[in-house]
Amino acid sequence: MTDVADTPATETRTTGPLMAVQHLKVLFPIKSGVIIDRVVGRVHAVDDVSFHLDEGETLGVVGESGCGKTTLIRVLVRLIAATSGTIEFRGKDITKSKRREMVPIRREMQMVFQDPQASLNPRKRVGQILATPLKLRGVGGDQLATESQKLLDRVGLSGEHLNRFPHEFSGGQRQRIGIARALAVNPRLILLDEPVSALDVSIQAQVINLLDDLQDEFQLSYVFVAHDLSVVRHVSDRIAVMYLGKLMEVSPAQELYEKPIHPYTSALLGAIPIPDPKQNRARTRVHVTGEPPNPIRPPSGCRFHTRCPRAGDICRKVEPQLTEYAGGHLAACHFPQSVTAEEISGGTRHPTSPASSGPDLPQIWHGNGGGQPETPAPPAPAENQS
Ligand code: SF4
Repeated sequence: MTDVADTPATETRTTGPLMAVQHLKVLFPIKSGVIIDRVVGRVHAVDDVSFHLDEGETLGVVGESGCGKTTLIRVLVRLIAATSGTIEFRGKDITKSKRREMVPIRREMQMVFQDPQASLNPRKRVGQILATPLKLRGVGGDQLATESQKLLDRVGLSGEHLNRFPHEFSGGQRQRIGIARALAVNPRLILLDEPVSALDVSIQAQVINLLDDLQDEFQLSYVFVAHDLSVVRHVSDRIAVMYLGKLMEVSPAQELYEKPIHPYTSALLGAIPIPDPKQNRARTRVHVTGEPPNPIRPPSGCRFHTRCPRAGDICRKVEPQLTEYAGGHLAACHFPQSVTAEEISGGTRHPTSPASSGPDLPQIWHGNGGGQPETPAPPAPAENQS
């Protein structure tokens, strides 16, 4: 891959974060009407989300089905248009870039899809599938077969697979082909949409190890979407937890598992099965009941309040800010857990906080000297031990 000379695809700066997202919103209109369509509502798929991604970093994005994580990465690569907010890639605002302007940028930003079967053209042989992106990179003639073979070698397949069709492979092999296709244009960023959730557990580990090796070799950055915190644990540098279109917690990966601040994160951690039945029974969990609310009419205040075992009055009225406690650990909760009174009083509103949560910390944080919430929180559930 690296022996083919490539010029930078975009004339953008190389310092600062690779990607910076500010107050991104994606609202899907719901239309109704016999003759004239009227907008009768909007699905709040991604609602006021801000984050950044550094070069060589992996950001895991986790949440239940329907939380907006897939919509988020699709809008980052501009497969879906943003309703408002900005997306900067290497310092260039690409939120409203025209299709033609996106062509060189998409060479640096590739996507690997959840269903490897559906993402590969069943009528094309693997060699043809890989040839299309390689040609974009200026590879042609005899070099095409050589470079395709190198790509397959790099993802654990061999040259003899070039003449086969996608249906002749297992799920894991097809996902390797999807990864090879993404690598073919020498990207900087790969957006992985649940890349292992359709695979057996043993194959999942192999594909995750492959992604890890490729990241080291080609200095790639990843946004890795999954619905299960156990999948992103070993690949992520930071993890963002989403609920109903909002970021609930963003933390360095290890810290999130050891010290979850948001009750929703604790609930997700409690859902990870532990192989030892004794340990599994012994641990205490945060129990979340019911289904996520309707994203057309999200709840007021904290979106998680309808299911949260710690919810108080303030949670129904005031949207919590994303607050930074220490070491880049952010959480949006009026009654944070796993943090001391000192950490709470030292918490500061983070710039990535939703604009709708207002400029100041909620009133409950002030006026009692210690920064403790004035409204007593319900008895704290025991800490998750996973
Ligand atoms: Fe629960 Fe309130 Fe925190 Fe939301 S703000 S997670 S409802 S305690």
